[in-house]
Amino acid sequence: VAELSERVRALVQPQMRGLEPYDPDFAPCRINLSANENDLGLPAPVRARVDAALRATPTNRYPDPMANELRDEIASWHGVSRANVFVSDGGDEALFDLFLAFGGPGRTLVNCPPTFSVYALYASMLGTTVLDVPRDPETFAPNADELAAAAADAAIVVLTSPNNPTGDVMDPAGVARVCEACPGLVLADEAYGEFAGPGLSSEPLLAAHDNLVVLHTFSKAYCLAGARCGYLLAAPDVVDGLAAVRQPYSVGVLAQAAALAVARERAAFEPLVDEIRSERERLLLEIRALGRALPVRVWPSQANFLLVRVPNASRVRSRLRDERSILVRDFSSAPGLADCLRITVGTREENDELLGALEAILKEES
Ligand SMILES: *Cc1c(COP(=O)(O)O)cnc(C)c1O
Repeated sequence: VAELSERVRALVQPQMRGLEPYDPDFAPCRINLSANENDLGLPAPVRARVDAALRATPTNRYPDPMANELRDEIASWHGVSRANVFVSDGGDEALFDLFLAFGGPGRTLVNCPPTFSVYALYASMLGTTVLDVPRDPETFAPNADELAAAAADAAIVVLTSPNNPTGDVMDPAGVARVCEACPGLVLADEAYGEFAGPGLSSEPLLAAHDNLVVLHTFSKAYCLAGARCGYLLAAPDVVDGLAAVRQPYSVGVLAQAAALAVARERAAFEPLVDEIRSERERLLLEIRALGRALPVRVWPSQANFLLVRVPNASRVRSRLRDERSILVRDFSSAPGLADCLRITVGTREENDELLGALEAILKEES
C-alpha cells in the first residue's frame, strides 16, 4: 500500500498525515471469502426485477436527494415513518455523515475495539477524540458497565451488533443502558443484523430512545455491495441533521432503483439468509473439529463470517490465496486480533474447499 508523499503529507490536514490510500490487498481469486458479501448472489427473479428497474430509470436527471420512494419502502418494512429514514451511498457514507454532523473537535466518540476500523478512521479524520472501551480479550464480549460509564461524556457511542470482525452481539438491554447513559447519540450498527438470531436487534428501542440510531445496509444480506446503498433509522430531527450535511446527490438513480427493487423483494432473501446461517454453523463445527488435532481456534458468530486464530495467520492467508486461490481477510496486525483471520461464509462448495485447504495447510505448517 502506497504512503502519502512528503509533499502531500505537508499539504493535508495534520490529523490526516498518517493516512494511506484505501486500496485493500485485493487479488482476484477463484473464491472470495474476504469482504462479507453474499456469495449466493441475487436470486434470478430478483435480478430480473432489478434489471427491469434499471432499464426504466432515466439517467439525465439528478436523483431525489433523500430517495423518498425508497425511504417509504424502508419505512413500511421497518414499521417507522419516512421521517425516520436516512438513505446513504452505502452504510459507510451514513457513518461519515453521522460523525461529521455530531462529532468533530472537542467531542468524544466511544469505540469498542476490536471492531470495524472505519469508525476510528472517520473519527480521527474529523478531529474527534476516540475513547476506546476494549472488548474482553478472550471472548470479545463488550463491557456494558464500562460502556455505560464512558457514554456519559460521549457525543457518539458506536455499538456494532453483530460485531465485525468478532461476530458477537450486544444484547438490546445493554444498548438501552448505553442510550440512557449517553447525552449524545448511540449508533447500533446492524450491518449484519439479518444473520443474527431473533430478538437481538435494537430496533424496537427506537420508539423509547430518541438518541438511538440503527444502521442497515443492502451490501451484506441483500447482495448489493456493488450498488452502494445503506440507511439509518433515527429520530426525525437526527435525520434532518444528517440531511443538512450530506452530499446532495450521493445516492445515484441506479443505486436507488436497485435498492428499491430489492427492498420490495426482501422476502426472497429469507432462504438465502437461512442457508448462510446454517452453513455458518456447519463451518463453525467443522473448524472446531479441526481444532481437536490442529492449532486452530474459532469463535461463535451471529454474522455471515467467522473469526479464526491460527499460528502464522499471515502466512496461512497468503498460502490460501497463492496455492488455492481462496481469499480471506487477515486481521493479524490489528490490535487484539493477533493471528486472526476473518472468513466469510460462502456457498456450500466454497466452504468445503476452504475447509479442505485450511486443514491441509495447517497440517503442513504444524
Ligand atoms: C459492511 C459494513 C458496513 C457498511 O458497509 P456498506 O457497504 O458501506 O454499506 C457498516 N458497518 C459494518 C460493521 C460493516 O461491516
